[in-house]
Formats: sequence, structure tokens, C-alpha cells
Amino acid sequence: MKSADLSSDARPQQILHEVFGYSAFRGAQADIVDHVVAGGDALVLMPTGGGKSLCYQIPAIARHRSQQGVTVVVSPLIALMHDQVGALEEAGVHAAFLNSSLSGEQAAHVEREMMSGRLVMLYAAPERITNPRFLAQLDSLQERGLLSLFAIDEAHCVSQWGHDFRSEYLALSLLHERYPEVPRIALTATADDLTRADIIERLRLEEARIFISSFDRPNIRYTIVEKDSKPRDQLLRFIQDEHGEDAGVVYCQSRKKVDETADWLVSAGIKALPYHAGLDAAVRQRHQDRFLREDSIVMVATIAFGMGIDKPDVRFVAHLDLPKNIESYYQETGRAGRDGAPADAWMTYGLADVVNQRRMIDESPAGEEFKKGQRGKLDALLALAEATDCRRVRLLAYFGELSSACGNCDNCLVPPATWDGTDAARKLLSCIYRFHQNGGQRFGAGHLIDVLRGKVTDKVTQYGHQSLSTWGIGADLPETQWRAVLRQLIALGHVFTEGEYMTLALADSARAVLKGEVQLLLRVPSVAPKRGKLSRSG
Ligand code: ADP
Ligand code: ZN
Repeated sequence: MKSADLSSDARPQQILHEVFGYSAFRGAQADIVDHVVAGGDALVLMPTGGGKSLCYQIPAIARHRSQQGVTVVVSPLIALMHDQVGALEEAGVHAAFLNSSLSGEQAAHVEREMMSGRLVMLYAAPERITNPRFLAQLDSLQERGLLSLFAIDEAHCVSQWGHDFRSEYLALSLLHERYPEVPRIALTATADDLTRADIIERLRLEEARIFISSFDRPNIRYTIVEKDSKPRDQLLRFIQDEHGEDAGVVYCQSRKKVDETADWLVSAGIKALPYHAGLDAAVRQRHQDRFLREDSIVMVATIAFGMGIDKPDVRFVAHLDLPKNIESYYQETGRAGRDGAPADAWMTYGLADVVNQRRMIDESPAGEEFKKGQRGKLDALLALAEATDCRRVRLLAYFGELSSACGNCDNCLVPPATWDGTDAARKLLSCIYRFHQNGGQRFGAGHLIDVLRGKVTDKVTQYGHQSLSTWGIGADLPETQWRAVLRQLIALGHVFTEGEYMTLALADSARAVLKGEVQLLLRVPSVAPKRGKLSRSG
């Protein structure tokens, strides 16, 4: 059924206006909708915020209006089901969900609506699909020509390669086996090749047309600044200067840091609320509701906050700590600007972040092979953080997309000054090397930099480090610059840290740097240039 053949009230464009109040489809939406309305299978890869929901909701409505019955939407996120069903009912589309939160009576009511064919969309958790009673109901709908479409949201959950594998998703292949005539649309924001191949194989989507959207989020301005000694002040300045009355999310790694940061922002006059898994469920709910309802709440949160939060006008996402890898960075920053208006992804990052993330991998109970993978992913993120060229080019390249300098990231807007850090790096590495030679003792960053700069401290005297040949060879550079050199050497893997005191040691690769075989082009540490609010014209 081409959309041209549909009765006018079942035309996608008409539904888009009437039901959703939007003027035009975005990106691939129109093609996807047409394909699915016509009964084709589809696999949709679209970034978070790209508008995946309409890709199945509009076909569901169109097919229902053409007497084809009920669409079953499989979703793993109960909170999201509630939100979507609420929004659909509000827009006059008869939708419901079946999950463990319903009473027997409520569930019976939903089932009656479904079996009558009146329901347009039924949202169900994946485990429901294998429930014999539910399958018998689907059989009955199918026999009466009232089973219209299956939509499988968060389809990457079927893959063990993905970040949230759910074994119940494996059973979804039975939809194809049992109802080969019913079209299916699977959707995900996870892009990599392995996951994609897995989804196709496990959900039996070999015949599906694949729609891949660009992962670029052109309205997001990426900025990564170096941490100074007061990162919270950096954050506050960023919020005050650029996002005075805006809604935003600030990610921190620990619950304690979430609490402290939220308190501190409140005392500085920002409407901030904490959110993490250690808070009472009722408190979390209340904070989430306020964030969704009010205009200018700043949610300070661990990564427990975000999955399935659909607030279109989040104007910034800030990171006070380094995320785990580029996928996490992309997912978390992707919660900004879902409405397409300008938004900021801002992160402050420093030496301790690198050290912490490396240590968390080292100390995790996982196997060596897995840790190796994690280290590789962290390295890619560190390279993004240290980059002196376009952030977006690097980000998209990570997802396999080629692009050119974007003009809307910090490095494009104000190209960072670079300096040749090769000599400085060699001085620093030889200083660590001298420590080893001089009694095999290891030291941390603070002492190393004191020795390089030729400071006389108690510790320097205690270990007699004034007599080292490297004492004072770095007096020409300020401490901040030495920290930047060290951070970049750790980021590049030439230096690693060990133990509780985070003492420094040389990696094998340091040798090439020491010999002068590797040139290091480093960012000049700088205070972020002052810049204005985002323009809202676009
Ligand atoms: P995803 O599931 O891909 O993360 P959503 O389906 O939640 O994205 O859509 C993200 C936001 O974009 C929502 O606020 C949605 O209403 C809005 N949106 C989607 N498609 C359109 C469109 N064609 N025009 C305007 N807004 C849209
Ligand atoms: Zn750029």
C-alpha cells in the first residue's frame, strides 16, 4: 500500500500534522514511514533524539485507520511506555501498555481493548511475547486480520555486543516465525557493525530494508576544557555565562559528588537537584518530575539518570568527570537539544580523570581480554579530549562516518594554540626514569613536578632529589603546563600509574619518546575563552 493509495485520513503527512502537530518529517522519517505503511520490514539506525518513535507510531496509526488492526510495540523501558502511552492518549490515539505495574483488572481492560481491535498501539515488555496466553491472543488477532505491525524498540538489546543485552529479546525471533506476514520495524541508536549484524541475524531481519541516519547532531556544540584547580567554579561560570535560565544535566561519577555538587550549585543560586540510585525512589521521581515539568532545572546526576528521559529542550549536558568511552559520551551528550535548537555539550577534564578511569579498569574484576577492550575505548575518548582539531570529525569518525570540520565545536570556533612538547615530555620521562634508578622508588605527580621545577620541599630533601640530574630542568614551564604534559603522556599510554598513591611508571612505549623518535604536539593550557550565549536564531 503506497501512501498515495491510502484514504486521506490515513496519509502519513496528514497524521503528522493532525495528531502530532509537526509540519514536516525529519531526515529519513518519511521514507521509513512509507516503507512500513506499505507492509515492508525495516531496521532503523538513528541517533538518540533523531525521532525514532514517529517511525512506528505513524505507520501504526495509518494502518489502524486502514482497518489493519493493532500494532504491538516491544520496549524494555517501563517508564518510557508510560510516557509514550500518556502522550498518545493525549493526542487522541488509543494506546495502552501491558506490564507488571498493572492490576489484574487494569490488564483485563487493556486486553479487551486489544482483542476488539479498537486499540491502535499496545506497548509490551519483551517477556510478555513468550507468554502463552498473550501469544494465543495474538493468534486470535492474526486470524481476524487485526494484527497490524510489530515495532521492536531498543533493538540492540538482542545483541551481546551491545551495552544492555536482555536475554528476553532473543525470543523475539519467534514473531517472524509465527507471524511471517506481519511487518516488523526494529529501531536502535546503536550504530556499530557488530551489533547491527547481530540484530539482523537474531531478529531474522534479513529481508528488512535498512535505514541508517547520520549520527551527527549538528545543533550540539562540543566543548572540552581543561580542569583548573576549581572545576566546580568552571562549571558555574559556564552555566551562568551561557545558560542562565536553561534546563541542563550535569553528570558526575559518584553519588557523593552528585550530592555535593548539587548543594554547591544551589548555594550559588542555581536551581539544581540531585539524582542517583542512592536516593529514595520517591525523591528520584519527584526530582525527575520537576526536571520534566519546570523550565530551568539543572539535574546533577550519575548515569542512573537519562535512559529514556525525553525532555526535548535540555539546553546543555555538562560532564564534571570523564565518561567511560565515546559511546557513553555520545549517549549522554545526546540528551541535549533533542528539539533541534542549539545546545551545548560541555566537559571539564583533567589528569585525575585519566588516572581514575584507568584505575577503574585495572581494578575491575573483569577478564584481561575485556579490560584490553575497555582500555582501547578509553584511549579513543582521551584522544578526543586531547584533540586539537575538530571534535565532531573525530566523534563521527569513531562511528564510521567521514565528515569535514564542523565550525560548531570549541576547536573549530577558537582553534587551540599548540606547542611542540617533545622536549618537555623527554624531560618528564627521564625524571621518572631517574627515580627508578635512584633506589627504585616511585612517586606521584606532585613530587615529580616539584623536582622538575627545582622546588625544595621536605620530600625533595628527604630523598635527596636535589642531586638528581633532572632536578630543576623544567623550571621554565609553569606547574599547570607540566600537569598538561603529564596528562597527555598518560592519555597516550607512555606513562601509567600504580597503586593507592598513584605513583608513576614508564610504559615500554616511553622509550621511543625518550629517544626523540616521537613528536608530541600538545595543546597550550589555557583558560577557556569567554563566549556568549548560544544564538537561538537557527
Ligand atoms: P528517539 O527515540 O530517536 O531518541 P524521539 O522519537 O523521542 O527520538 O524524538 C525526539 C524528539 O524529536 C521528540 O521530542 C519528538 O517529538 C521530536 N520529533 C520527532 N520527529 C519530529 C518531526 N518530524 N518534527 C518535529 N519534531 C519531531
Ligand atoms: Zn568542529
